[in-house]
Amino acid sequence: MSKRDYYEVLGVSRDAGDGDLKKAYRKLAMKYHPDRNQGDGEAEERFKEAAEAYEVLRNGEKRQIYDRFGHEGLEGTGFKGFSGFDDIFSSFGDVFEEFFGFGTRRGGSSRVRQGNSLRYDLELTLEDAFHGKEEEIQFQKIASCETCHGSGLTPGTELQNCSTCQGQGQVVRSQGFFQISTTCPTCHGEGRIITDPCNECHGRGSVQVDKTITLKVPAGVDTGSQLRLQGEGEPGEHGGPSGDLIVVIHVGEHGFFNREGDHLLCEIPISFVQATLGDSVTIPILGGDETKDLRIPKGTQPGEILALNGYGMPNLHRNKKGDLYIKINIKIPKTLSHQQRELLEAFKETEELKKSKKGNHFWQKIKQ
Ligand SMILES: [Zn+2]
Ligand SMILES: [Zn+2]
Repeated sequence: MSKRDYYEVLGVSRDAGDGDLKKAYRKLAMKYHPDRNQGDGEAEERFKEAAEAYEVLRNGEKRQIYDRFGHEGLEGTGFKGFSGFDDIFSSFGDVFEEFFGFGTRRGGSSRVRQGNSLRYDLELTLEDAFHGKEEEIQFQKIASCETCHGSGLTPGTELQNCSTCQGQGQVVRSQGFFQISTTCPTCHGEGRIITDPCNECHGRGSVQVDKTITLKVPAGVDTGSQLRLQGEGEPGEHGGPSGDLIVVIHVGEHGFFNREGDHLLCEIPISFVQATLGDSVTIPILGGDETKDLRIPKGTQPGEILALNGYGMPNLHRNKKGDLYIKINIKIPKTLSHQQRELLEAFKETEELKKSKKGNHFWQKIKQ
């Protein structure tokens, strides 16, 4: 396979300087980058070809050999070009960093990483949960510094080779017979350092910002419900996507209603007369000044539970409300008026008459 001329590959003149070479290579690397041309064999070849051309021409010694002896000359020195993408990315790590504007400072790895997700706890009343709510929430998050676009550099400056390790990222120490290579303490293995840090973020590339979001809380949320706002978390690293903001809902206790899933429970007191004779009472309904009439059947017992179907909480997923269950408490009067006492005494006599009739019947049955 005959190789194309390196100058032709990059589209530069034979006397092109470092700046021209870099510019030309940058253009091709962007165009044929495997992330943008997945599965495209032609683009892959072009990407490799451009990397090889740039690798040779940016190196004074290799370029000299190539200029004089061509491809064969280089092969004679053992130069083989690149075996694959990994090879290219590891050789040109610093170059790509510069091209694509993301640094490898944090963590020493240039792997694309999604940003952290953030948690926000939101307290709501039961009424809020019933109606749904638009809530403005404020929180702090880490955001890419706008002044330096996340590079940590004062605009117009560049990363400098680390003088401790001469840009190797590793320092070699001799210990007896051994040579031990360790991560450079100055640049933490990056090989390059910021000598002129951005004023805004002090070289971190990120700043803490106050963020306000208007959140739409749907009707029917309950304690533990989570709302996920995609991309509102912390920014990703090396071009990775931002994390999410996860809003965790807490619904407070209500003075009158207890909630169980979609159902609401409450207790109302009625008099023993209402329970005995039956009645209609007005009870409050959640959400507004609305009330509802509840029919108390005659002979209602203490602790009995009456239901109003469809007067519970809205369901988060279905367009259907739960039920309202009303537990009946029966009040026994502690004081009576003279008239009430007389009426009740009279009532008692009728009760005793009923009892003795029943009782006679009962004893007769036993005797038989
Ligand atoms: Zn900055
Ligand atoms: Zn270093």
